[in-house]
Amino acid sequence: MVFKHDVVIVGAGLAGLRAALEVAGNVDVALISKVYPTRSHSGAAQGGIAAALGNEEPDSWEWHMYDTVKGGDYLTDQHVAEILATDAPRAVYELEHLGVPFNRTPDGKIAQRAFGGHTRDFGKAPVKRACYAADRTGRVMMDTLYFQAERKGIKVYPELQMLDLIFKDGQVAGLVAYELATGDVHVFHSRVVMLATGGYGKVYKTTSNAFANTGEGVYIPYRAGIPLEDMEFVQFHPTGIYGMGVLLSEAARGEGGILRNGSGERFMERYAPTIKDLAPRDMVSRAIRTEILEGRGIGGKDYVHLDLTHLGEQKLAERLSDITSFVKIYLGIDPAKELIPIQPTCHYMMGGIPCNVDGHVLGGSQEVVPGLYAAGECSCLSLHGANRLGCNSLLDLVVFGRRTGLQIGRDLAGLPWQELPRNPERPALERIRKIKERKAGEKAAHLRSRLQETMTLRCSVFRHEETLVQALSEIRSLEERYGKVVIDNRGARFNTDLLDALELEALLGLAEAITVSALNRKESRGAHSRDDYPERNDEEWLKHTLIQKTDGEVRVFYKPVHITRFQPKPRTY
Ligand SMILES: Cc1cc2nc3c(=O)[nH]c(=O)nc-3n(C[C@H](O)[C@H](O)[C@H](O)COP(=O)(O)OP(=O)(O)OC[C@H]3O[C@@H](n4cnc5c(N)ncnc54)[C@H](O)[C@@H]3O)c2cc1C
Repeated sequence: MVFKHDVVIVGAGLAGLRAALEVAGNVDVALISKVYPTRSHSGAAQGGIAAALGNEEPDSWEWHMYDTVKGGDYLTDQHVAEILATDAPRAVYELEHLGVPFNRTPDGKIAQRAFGGHTRDFGKAPVKRACYAADRTGRVMMDTLYFQAERKGIKVYPELQMLDLIFKDGQVAGLVAYELATGDVHVFHSRVVMLATGGYGKVYKTTSNAFANTGEGVYIPYRAGIPLEDMEFVQFHPTGIYGMGVLLSEAARGEGGILRNGSGERFMERYAPTIKDLAPRDMVSRAIRTEILEGRGIGGKDYVHLDLTHLGEQKLAERLSDITSFVKIYLGIDPAKELIPIQPTCHYMMGGIPCNVDGHVLGGSQEVVPGLYAAGECSCLSLHGANRLGCNSLLDLVVFGRRTGLQIGRDLAGLPWQELPRNPERPALERIRKIKERKAGEKAAHLRSRLQETMTLRCSVFRHEETLVQALSEIRSLEERYGKVVIDNRGARFNTDLLDALELEALLGLAEAITVSALNRKESRGAHSRDDYPERNDEEWLKHTLIQKTDGEVRVFYKPVHITRFQPKPRTY
């Protein structure tokens, strides 16, 4: 079928929903989502959303901006961080008015707690800046915004998966999507496509991300020739449940939790003497890996402990109830009485589709791609630089989701309907046919496991030229083997076997972009830490990576960082 809407937003997480609410009412807008919308990964966000409200102690947007820039190891474009920090209080009060049930202080204000890298007075001590609803902040935000989207009558297409973007004369003309329930391939004809497809942590074996986070929304524009930005910066969250990667929010340390090594030592005192366990995630993850590599893991093994025993049952029940139950369910441990085994887990992608602050996607010469927009984790506004601070993503989604929605409203008059090219669904149908008809070859699940293991082993917290070269050659050989991928289920209805195989193409392409970008950046900055180049090198590397694929060739080039208020300084905490 061909569906027609002025604006199609791909992704019904918080970025997509927030943009849709802004556009709805004036124009015909539709949301498509590969999962049922409220199952989007935004609903899994636990710890909170940052804003310098100053409800618990003095705070200011300048401190928030500074922390964001310093947390990003000075790769953050500072005009973007300024928008984020100044707009944050408005964005949080707006959420409150829409109905988000935040925790409260005794006098009825929105309660706030400490979070990694958020400080007062330009780094002097931790500050309570994270607004939260227990440890299910993303859940309540999703439910509230989805309710608002229903009230506005926004058309939602659940369980439809984008397979291709359609362009006509350089302008977006729509997209092609696969319907899970029927196996039908549909065409969406539109004047605007906005990508809000989230992260792609499934490139790694150990990750906090949802199963749906496989990155087609980033890969499809890349395959179409649009560059990707800062792909080497992959965030590992320090506290994933050992062996599983399930997230235990940084709120656990915000509420007073402590990391301990094999001899019970609070080792973060050595790495970040001022803010200790509340240092930014890249530093804490490196500290954990260093403890383990130097033999100070628990019993010499590859994990350390998160200690919440001193917080008491009441605080755990009131503020950290979800993670308390995760620990009980997955490990059979009561965090009020026992220490929790944790290890770093792939969590967030700083890199993605290059955008300006109004959500316009930027092409290879920094030109605006007419009709194409992006916001949320799939985008790269250069806001989080080389390392995102906790609670800044939920904020990014609502601040820049809204701005993108507003901009789409402004631009629409100048974006005429483009005629659809003939049979725009043909390339996708062809890919599906080939996979379904192939009789012999390798299973997608097998190739995917190899890829995830390779990335986790060779391109994670610490990197080295040698391991990155090995990773790249493994990825390229998997890409070749992908040409012969086979599936068991050849049916039409709910064929997740087929979708797994299609998603693997995106995982492979993004893994390659991450690895090539990482190999080229010969310094250590934020989440990108090279054993062979252990220092940050502002002289040569204070610049954003762009990677572009045209006619099968990968090209890497760079663009400058936008510095306004804060000159790069050594990063100590
Ligand atoms: C466990 C966990 C806890 C977190 N906690 C916090 C926190 O406390 N504070 C904070 O600031 N950040 C947190 N984060 C980060 C933050 O939640 C995410 O960065 C953010 O929610 C991403 O939102 P999004 O709207 O960009 O995408 P998502 O919420 O991931 O939604 C993506 C949407 O795109 C759709 N989609 C994807 N691909 C396709 C396709 N091919 N076709 C159609 N639809 C598609 C999906 O169906 C989905 O609707 C956490 C992340 C995780 C994983």
